[in-house]
Amino acid sequence: MTIHFHERLHINDRNLCRLFMQEIRGIYTDLELTAEELDLLAMPRRSFTVHFPVRMDSGKTRMFIGYRVQYNDARGPAKGGIRFHPDLTIDHVKDLALLMVLKCAVVNIPFGGSKGGVVVNPRELSRNELEQLTRGYIRAINNFIGPFKDIPAPDVYTDEKIMVWIMDEFERIHGAHMPAVVTGKPVELGGTKARHYSTALGGIYVLEEALERAAVEKTTARVAVQGFGNVGKNAARLFFERGYKVVAVSAVEGGVMSPDGLDIPAVVRRQEATGSLLDFKGSRNITNQELLASDCDILVPAALSDQLHMGNADAVKAKIVLELANAPTTIEADEIFFGKKILVIPDVIANAGGVVVSYFEWSQNLTSNYWKEEEVLQKLKHIMVSSFNDVYSACSEPRCRMRKAAYLLAIKRVLDAERLRGNL
Ligand code: NAD
Repeated sequence: MTIHFHERLHINDRNLCRLFMQEIRGIYTDLELTAEELDLLAMPRRSFTVHFPVRMDSGKTRMFIGYRVQYNDARGPAKGGIRFHPDLTIDHVKDLALLMVLKCAVVNIPFGGSKGGVVVNPRELSRNELEQLTRGYIRAINNFIGPFKDIPAPDVYTDEKIMVWIMDEFERIHGAHMPAVVTGKPVELGGTKARHYSTALGGIYVLEEALERAAVEKTTARVAVQGFGNVGKNAARLFFERGYKVVAVSAVEGGVMSPDGLDIPAVVRRQEATGSLLDFKGSRNITNQELLASDCDILVPAALSDQLHMGNADAVKAKIVLELANAPTTIEADEIFFGKKILVIPDVIANAGGVVVSYFEWSQNLTSNYWKEEEVLQKLKHIMVSSFNDVYSACSEPRCRMRKAAYLLAIKRVLDAERLRGNL
């Protein structure tokens, strides 16, 4: 008799993580997971919702909702970004926190996984309101974070200025200098060299390993990048500098395309001056959907989750999808890509360069011993390339499903840690 996934779980599924239910369901038999192991992985260890007041510039007080989820910390302190977004939900934060657990385990750094954020559109706030919001959120969660508990970092619509406010508020409350409470800080205040482009560069390191196996010539490869924030902009810049042809880029308002390749430094200058990518000289304006279906070899989603789905996956022409965003591909789209022989380099390895260099920042803060940029880059490359090879060699089928292989590797490492702690 076949025992179905749900029957395997001893716990009722009201609080289970959606990502866990969807993704792990597909591979739990490969892992031969017991019911106890499934139960242990299916729920976040701690999940907080906070409500906190912020005094707005008008003098009126407005209440905000914040979340922090510490999914698993068997392998070390929890680690995960803080997102300010109007559509944020606790369920999405749980998904992203589980991804952080898997990501830290795939690249084998001594962290668990967490995620958090505030339900807000930061573009509607003044600088002062943004600072008060950040400080209010940290006051609300300060007992649950710390250098040896849970270490935040930047994510969508948060940046190094916000990381400084987080550090400063935490240090005021605890009366001591503790830069290791948060990563993604400016270099002047305990940040590490290369952090601002480490997510993008880490992705390029693993991509270049994959290119050798996918018979795509680097010098002629055409790249399209969705999202032009910290990750997407740096990715476009690094691709351009390394000789790739970047044919399309986009942000929330849409993007631009040129089959001959865009002059990325000029696109960046113009976007920084005008706030928009549109109407760049010598290019054509496109929608985000057109970007995803554009004629390219490498598609790089670097914006939000669920951008590649059943409705548009068939139109993708790229040979490789490099997931610099978290969870940009739905399960249905993943299946379609496998059928079309598109190699997907999954988020848990493709964008892990950010958390790897965050780990370097945390280590430097704890030892007060700061490294040169070359040292950071050399260590980053070593971890990314060896993790790619670990994942690739964990592929059991002739055509590698990298996401499955990465999950198998990560879950095994997390369960080994739980077993050694006596929790299994
Ligand atoms: P960011 O806030 O700096 O930039 C987000 C970008 O996405 C902006 O250009 C915005 O215009 C664009 N965008 C927003 N909504 C969009 C939409 N509907 N369609 C198209 N574009 C849209 O954020 P970021 O730090 O660059 O993060 C981008 C992604 O990378 C997220 O999924 C994040 O979780 C992931 N990520 C970031 C890091 C990091 O180090 N910052 C590390 C790992 C993963």
